Amino acid sequence: MSQLSNRAKNLKPSPTLAINAKAKSMQAQGIHIINFGAGEPDFDTPDHIKAAAIKAIEEGFTKYTPVSGTDELKDAIIKKFQRDNGLTYKRSEIIVSCGGKHSFYNLAQSIFDEGDEVIVPAPYWVSYPPMVTLAGATPVIVETKEENGFKLIQEDLKKVITPKTKALIINSPSNPTGGAYTKKDLEWIGELALTHHFFIISDEIYEKIIYDHFKFVSIASLSDEIKKKTIIVHGVAKTYAMTGWRIGYAAGPEEIIAAMNNIQSQSTSNPTSISQKASVEALTGSQDEVQRMVSAFEERRNYIVDRLNKIPGVNCFKPIGAFYVFPNFSSYYGKAYQGKKISNSTDLADYFLEVARVAVVPGVEFGADSFIRLSYATSLEDIKEGLNRIEGTLRLLD
Ligand SMILES: *Cc1c(COP(=O)(O)O)cnc(C)c1O
Repeated sequence: MSQLSNRAKNLKPSPTLAINAKAKSMQAQGIHIINFGAGEPDFDTPDHIKAAAIKAIEEGFTKYTPVSGTDELKDAIIKKFQRDNGLTYKRSEIIVSCGGKHSFYNLAQSIFDEGDEVIVPAPYWVSYPPMVTLAGATPVIVETKEENGFKLIQEDLKKVITPKTKALIINSPSNPTGGAYTKKDLEWIGELALTHHFFIISDEIYEKIIYDHFKFVSIASLSDEIKKKTIIVHGVAKTYAMTGWRIGYAAGPEEIIAAMNNIQSQSTSNPTSISQKASVEALTGSQDEVQRMVSAFEERRNYIVDRLNKIPGVNCFKPIGAFYVFPNFSSYYGKAYQGKKISNSTDLADYFLEVARVAVVPGVEFGADSFIRLSYATSLEDIKEGLNRIEGTLRLLD
């Protein structure tokens, strides 16, 4: 008999974290790696946020808090939704968890059952399908296309809706593509959710990292009916360069939030008290640092998209938000290096790591094998050097 549960045996580790680890271990051996693999801002957490955490420690705010977060932080989150999205929530409709990923996990455990279908547009964030599967439900992958800005089109979504459809996941702006839904897009998606009675899980973690004056709209703000069918997953990690602090949150119908609270109460209890204090400061304090980081990301995005599109055979969609590019490299599949054939995105990512010493994430991990993901949450200097290396090694292929 196996020692492990079927659940554990069937679960793959998060590939983005794995590639990061491999790159870091090569780096530890003295090999200079340009790392486009990271899924987090390269900036430090702003000082005023750190100061709030230090103050919390000094004042002894180091004990259990309520499982679903302090009232102070919930009120800061409620204010954020009101201010940024015109959404009104009560405390009982908010839960704070140990990261946006944890909020999503609790949500999946709270609303999915065996036999439920959950529509996941591809390219998707790597953790969605496994978290759906862990909850016993079935991910139904629906492809989106580069020429549609990596967004769902009505015809394709309608094709996969069945009476078993429990929810649709949308992530706008998207990791890995940088695609983002306009209000107009969200309107027809919301209508379909009402007609066919499924939930919308809206992952809005990249809300603030947007370019070219894009107007972010939360699908929950479209109408009261749509709001009742929507659970927003959000967090401070990406906006405030706070990935290590582990604070995410969700907003949605009271009954669902209460179930998430129950699951959290029997697993992690409250997220870290100190991080909660820091998050209050992040959400209610000065937002100047956010603007500075987004401007830096925008400059890098412009550079990296331009460079990638100049490489023969490469096509790169210009992201509207987040800090990733998702170029199509499939014209290189079938070519070889020293007799070794590159057949897919995994082979190409291995080739880049070993020969170019550049870490990227293969698109297959996001359900799109023609592509690779590069994070531009790294210095412009590194981006230039990384692109030089990629270009150079592509010329070695025949
Ligand atoms: C980073 C990320 C999250 C959440 O990250 P946490 O660190 O758990 O808060 C959620 N969704 C997407 C798409 C992400 O990229």
